[in-house]
Amino acid sequence: MNVKTLFTSTAVVFSLATSVALAAPHWTHEEQSDWGGISDDTQTIAPLMYPYAECSIGRHQSPVDLAGESNAKQLNTLQTQYVTDKSDFYNSGHAVQVNTSAGYKGQLKIGNDLYPLIQYHFHAPSEHVIGKKTFPAELHFVHVREDGRMAVVGVLLQKGAANATIQTILDNVSPNAAEHNPDTGIEINPNTLLPHNASFFYTYAGSLTTPPCSEGVSWYVLAKPVTVSDAQLSQLKALYSDNTRLPQNLNGRIVTGKISK
Ligand SMILES: [Zn+2]
Repeated sequence: MNVKTLFTSTAVVFSLATSVALAAPHWTHEEQSDWGGISDDTQTIAPLMYPYAECSIGRHQSPVDLAGESNAKQLNTLQTQYVTDKSDFYNSGHAVQVNTSAGYKGQLKIGNDLYPLIQYHFHAPSEHVIGKKTFPAELHFVHVREDGRMAVVGVLLQKGAANATIQTILDNVSPNAAEHNPDTGIEINPNTLLPHNASFFYTYAGSLTTPPCSEGVSWYVLAKPVTVSDAQLSQLKALYSDNTRLPQNLNGRIVTGKISK
């Protein structure tokens, strides 16, 4: 699969509700306990009739409660090698999102593995929790490698000083679902959305947190939060609030932490 195809398929995966070509059934966060049972009435063969079955039957689902992590100092280093981009501000129908431009060179480096950054988006409140503590919002940086492997970096947002880049995103995303705004010429460096110290994180094996809830996603949730102002949170939540999946059972998985205490 070439990169161009991957960009397309990734965009489809993360905007199912709006990809008419796939005729993926509509879903909402309100009905999350029943995602696995949503049927695709255009299909007649059993597995295809329930395209989101993994949301219910998967054993490695996301998000999770990160507390109780086992500390490991020898984990691979996480390097967010992001660069400036003229991005597409996108209202996905489920979240405020920014798509990187085609050929974008920003990437995540884990050990010797490189994962290109495809898009990032917000959830409010946070999806990952720490000892049942929920944060006001969470940012997900979605990276997809050429072989299809995915890694997502989560950044927890807490109330505090405003973040200038978040303001730019909020001011340029359309209020209308499925609408793109790719031609503002505004340059964004996703690094400005990360905490100053991004070397501490929780990691575990999980899934997409929205249908089809595909597993095989490597999660890295940064231990240090980033601040967002009250006004910015209100602006975000006026677009999407409660676009959050509840924590899922670990089912024996271990959350590993590289965390300063
Ligand atoms: Zn997400």
